[in-house]
Amino acid sequence: MATLRKLLVVCFGLIFASCFTFFFTSCAVKKGGENGEDELSRWMKSFGQVKVCATTPLIADTVRQIGGDHISVISLMGPDIDPHSYEIVKGDHDKISHADLVFANGLSLEHSRSMQRVLGEHKNVVFVSERIPNNEIIIVDGSPDPHIWMDVELWSLTTFPIQAALSKIDPKNAELYRERAEAVRVKYKLINEEIKARMQSIPAARRRLVTSHDAFNYFAKQYLAKEGEWKSRVIAIQGLAPEEQISSSEIKRVVDYVINYNVKVIFAEKNLSRDSLLKVVDACRRSGQYVALAKEELFGDTMGKGSYIEMMEHNAKVIELNLKYEDDPKARPQIYS
Ligand SMILES: [Zn+2]
Repeated sequence: MATLRKLLVVCFGLIFASCFTFFFTSCAVKKGGENGEDELSRWMKSFGQVKVCATTPLIADTVRQIGGDHISVISLMGPDIDPHSYEIVKGDHDKISHADLVFANGLSLEHSRSMQRVLGEHKNVVFVSERIPNNEIIIVDGSPDPHIWMDVELWSLTTFPIQAALSKIDPKNAELYRERAEAVRVKYKLINEEIKARMQSIPAARRRLVTSHDAFNYFAKQYLAKEGEWKSRVIAIQGLAPEEQISSSEIKRVVDYVINYNVKVIFAEKNLSRDSLLKVVDACRRSGQYVALAKEELFGDTMGKGSYIEMMEHNAKVIELNLKYEDDPKARPQIYS
C-alpha cells in the first residue's frame, strides 16, 4: 500500500513538473512579436522572469541581449514610431505598471507630458544614458541631444546601468548579467571599429551627411570628423525632434550647405517624409548644383524589424556606398536615385 502511495506521489509530481515547464516556456515573450496585444498578454503572464519594459525598441534590444532568458522584455513604442513626440496609448499603463523594471533613454527623449507622468510614477526607472560623461553629451540650442545610439561606443556605456539594475533586482543571476554585458560590449566594440573603418574609407571631402532631422550629430562626431570639426560634417533640415512645419529659411540653410560643400547625395530617414529633402534637391538643381536623394533611407530614431547592430550596419553601408561612389553611378546602381 505504501509503495502504491509512493508511486502515485511520483506520478503526480512528474505531471505537475511537465505542466510547469510547459507553462513556463509558453509564456516567454518572443523577440519582436508581430501582434502587439499577443505580445503584451504573453509578457503579462511571463512567469519566473524579471518583467522589463523599455521605452524604445533600441533599448529593448540591448536589455534583451544582457538579460537573456532570465528576463522578459517588452517595448513601449513600436518599431517605426517617432520617440520624440510619443504619447502614452492604450495598453501602455499595463506595460509600465506591471514591469518590475523600466528602462528609458533620458536626455529628454521621452519628453511628452504623458510619458513624463508615467515614468515619474514608477518606482524603478533607470535611464540608460546615466553613465555617459557630461562632456560627451552634445548640446543643441541649449538642449541635450538624446540620439546617443548613433555612436556605438557611447551606446555601449548603456550596458553598465542595465547590468547594474538587472543584478540588483535579480542578484542570484548577477554573474550571468555581468558576463553577458561584457560580451555585448565586445560585440559593440567590433561594430564601432567596423563603422569607423567604413567611414574613414570615404574621401574626407565627401564625408558630409545631410538628413531630415538632427539625429546624426553623434554619428558625425564619432565616424565622419576629425577632432573638433564635426559640426561642419552634418546638417539636417529639422532640429532634435522632428516637427511638421518646416520654414523656408530651414530649407535655405541646407541648400546653402549643399552648394558650399559640393554635396552630391543627401539622405532621407525611414520614419520621416522625404518632401522637405526633395525641396532641397529641387532648389539646389535650380541653382546648378546637381544633388540626388539616396534611394535607400537611413534609420534615425527607429530600427525597423532588425536589431540595433543591423540598424547601425545598414546606416554605415548606405552612407559609405553613396558617398564613396558618388562620382561613379555604375558602382552603386541599386541605391542611387
Ligand atoms: Zn530623433
